[in-house]
Amino acid sequence: MKKNHPFQLNKEQMRSYGYQVIDAIVDHYQNEKNKKPVSLATRREMDNLFLEEVPKKEHDFEDVLSSVLNDVMPKSNIPSHPKFYSFVPGPSNYVSVLADTLATGFNVFAGGWMGSPAAAEIEIITINWLLKIFKFPVKKGGGIFTSGGSMANLTALVTARRQLCGDDFSDAVIYISDQAHSSNIKAIRILGFKKEQVRVIPTDIEFKMAINKLKNAIAKDKLNGLRPFCIIASAGTTNTGTVDPLNEVALICKKEKIWFHVDGAYGGAVMLSSRGKKYLKGIEKADSITIDPHKWLYQPYEMGCLLVRDFRWLNKTFSEKPEYLKDIEGNTSEINFYDHGIQLTRRFRALKLYMSLKTFGLKTFEEAIDYNIRLAEETEEFLRNSSHWEIVSPATLAVINFRYNPVDKNYTEKELNLLNQKISEKITASGEAALVTTILNKMTVLRMCLINPKTTHEDIRETLRQGLEIAKDI
Ligand SMILES: *Cc1c(COP(=O)(O)O)cnc(C)c1O
Repeated sequence: MKKNHPFQLNKEQMRSYGYQVIDAIVDHYQNEKNKKPVSLATRREMDNLFLEEVPKKEHDFEDVLSSVLNDVMPKSNIPSHPKFYSFVPGPSNYVSVLADTLATGFNVFAGGWMGSPAAAEIEIITINWLLKIFKFPVKKGGGIFTSGGSMANLTALVTARRQLCGDDFSDAVIYISDQAHSSNIKAIRILGFKKEQVRVIPTDIEFKMAINKLKNAIAKDKLNGLRPFCIIASAGTTNTGTVDPLNEVALICKKEKIWFHVDGAYGGAVMLSSRGKKYLKGIEKADSITIDPHKWLYQPYEMGCLLVRDFRWLNKTFSEKPEYLKDIEGNTSEINFYDHGIQLTRRFRALKLYMSLKTFGLKTFEEAIDYNIRLAEETEEFLRNSSHWEIVSPATLAVINFRYNPVDKNYTEKELNLLNQKISEKITASGEAALVTTILNKMTVLRMCLINPKTTHEDIRETLRQGLEIAKDI
């Protein structure tokens, strides 16, 4: 074939390669359950497998693809596997996989209105759906899709600082609980706040931000001439699924004119479910909310989202209007998302949420989230009634923390910590399930995050049986 450009493939090659890729993805979906969710390897093993000089000559695509399918993919964990309980699973869904493929295939530029009026409009529309679900003002409110929750939290804090502090933020103080996600501390550091400008508020026995301690800290800071500026509350901590007392934080923020940011990257999704939304009462009073569709809204990576009560805040924070962009500036009703966030060139993330919501309908999402919440509650019930396991933090927004602590033995706390650590390590090393530990009140506990709608009671029972087998041999 005569090539018109260096990257040209003929139509038959394009089709054939494409079908091979889709077939591989479909096979992965079909066989997922028979694969092991965890795959560990050392740097040395990976170097042995992949290390090479930059390839100067061409290779057959099919050889490249088969080495990727044989070596790269199997050496990756499977976050959508029904027995991947750890960290936060990534259940994903196939329609959104296709949407991402389309967005990449057409290489849609979702930075500005001119790049794609339709991409901008679909981002506006899906953001409006979310605004409505989160009971934010739809006309006045706004938002933007980001790469993930970390980026949404960072975008929120930049916006808050711009609105409340302007350029001088040397006396501004941020309040955050000891259970808040590390990405918030990271964002605070990126923004150049000093350690002395952050108050880490202890949590109560249920891992909620202790309101009395929060009020004390704010009062002390004011007495010291500092400016309480932002409270970051969690709507579903990653560790235990705990929701901070949102209504009480909202009252404090209103009275003290403090920015109210809710990090709902983990739990925000339950607003889509009739069973779940009661847990997030008060979230609608926030100034900004982070949600993370690539977690419990079943989207493939990467997709986070920031919602704000007033869309102009984003524009005031991020619009630069440099000369070379002037010609393509739309009118005010035509949104350029490069003016609403950090990125200029952006992929078309909204498409996957749009296509999956349209295809499956909101009701399917609602039922899936309800199922996840129920699965965790029923698992709690099962564990509570067993003579081997003990609940440490009850099922909360589909997260449950428990430990091996048989009723007929009298292990010390130290022994229990060691035992549970071993159980987790051995299960994970077997590859059969991803079940890691976390530390709660100095206890090493096993944590299950059950946001995968494919996970069944039988999966969980199998993993627990494996845990007991391991415990017997320790
Ligand atoms: C996962 C998570 C984040 C970070 O989100 P990424 O998408 O991983 O960047 C932030 N906050 C909470 C509560 C989370 O669970």
